[in-house]
Amino acid sequence: MTSLLPQHRRDAAAADGVAADLAGRPRPPAVGRSRRVATATRLGHLAEVSSRLSGLGAGGVIGGRVLLALAPGAVPELARGRSLALVSGTNGKTTTTALLAAALRTQAPVDTNADGANTQAGMVRALAAGDAATVVLETDEGWLPWAVRQTRASTTVLLNLSRDQLHRHHEVAHVARAWRDALDGAEHVVANADDPAVVLACLGARNRTWVAAGTRWREDARVCPRCGHEIVSDDGGWRCRCGLCRPRPQWWTEGDDLVGPATRLTLGLGLPGAANRANAAMAVAAAAGLGVSPEGALGAMRTVRGVAGRYEVFATRTHSARLTLAKNPASWLEALDMVGARSRPLVLAFNSDGVDGRDPSWLYDVPFDGLAGRPVVVTGRRATDMLVRLEMAGLHDVRRAGDVAAALSLLPAGEVDVVANYTAFQEARRALGHRCHGR
Ligand SMILES: [Zn+2]
Repeated sequence: MTSLLPQHRRDAAAADGVAADLAGRPRPPAVGRSRRVATATRLGHLAEVSSRLSGLGAGGVIGGRVLLALAPGAVPELARGRSLALVSGTNGKTTTTALLAAALRTQAPVDTNADGANTQAGMVRALAAGDAATVVLETDEGWLPWAVRQTRASTTVLLNLSRDQLHRHHEVAHVARAWRDALDGAEHVVANADDPAVVLACLGARNRTWVAAGTRWREDARVCPRCGHEIVSDDGGWRCRCGLCRPRPQWWTEGDDLVGPATRLTLGLGLPGAANRANAAMAVAAAAGLGVSPEGALGAMRTVRGVAGRYEVFATRTHSARLTLAKNPASWLEALDMVGARSRPLVLAFNSDGVDGRDPSWLYDVPFDGLAGRPVVVTGRRATDMLVRLEMAGLHDVRRAGDVAAALSLLPAGEVDVVANYTAFQEARRALGHRCHGR
């Protein structure tokens, strides 16, 4: 099992409502806030502790809601005078936030929402929990316009925009236009040159750093988000007849190398896959804009080996199980690419509860054919949907199990990849953690 103690200690400190640095050392609460915001912060913390003690969860979102209810204008006050970076996009934002925070910590303490609470309440809570001069906030794509206007962040990192939770973010172009309106006149945007919706969103920013971070999922990038005409792609990039086209990137990856202005460095990440190499390129570009050398940024980022349980390896008595999160078509493609590089047996865990999104029909947009010939077990409350999808992809020997532990027992001892969507991922993480600790 990988050592994730610093992460666990940070989680514990965050659960206590106390800001913590990378080593988990708590820092004292901020001073110099207005009485109203200071009182709201204390009462939010109290609500959080009560929620946790009564077994209702970590309580961070409740704490943030209480804080905002008592001090609706708290965010501009809490953000004032701090160097603030927002990280948003459909996929990769938790990992990129962790990588960027690690890079910036080489210079000074950083406050961040490492717990992944990325809506209004989670962000305000992270801002209130400490007084570090530097803040990195993972930001839900629907909340980005609010966060940009409230915090006046000096840096916004935009990764990608594709379908996610269809019942919530209705269409990509709608979100892209909301981003564009909010980012008009923004100080600095670090953005993925390969994603037309992202490019449209930041054309009005005062300074733009373009990164070739790729778009594995092209279904949502076939139509121009500005005019609705077809996007034409070739080796040189993409363009639309309206003039929207791929900007020339300043940063890109070549294999495991990162290339930037007068820079060529080996990434050598502790995190697997092409998607994480792209996330790292975005984080280095953002860190460089904030004064951290690419060498220094990468040195810190290489020490990140798991992010909120993603890519964590759980060693049970019989199996070594690596856990990967895949929550929408684009991230399933990335996860399948990651596990496709190995020939390990697979467990696919699939739910459609709450944040998973209720409609799993997009499973039919994901090509599972490449898994043929591998031992696969499916589990989760929508395991039947997955089973039918895999059958149609030509996988005829897939078995089904009641939970992840039972799924592992159906597979030969050794290394296994577990790919799960959001709530299934949380359940698998708890179940596998319990089995490891119970050895
Ligand atoms: Zn167009």
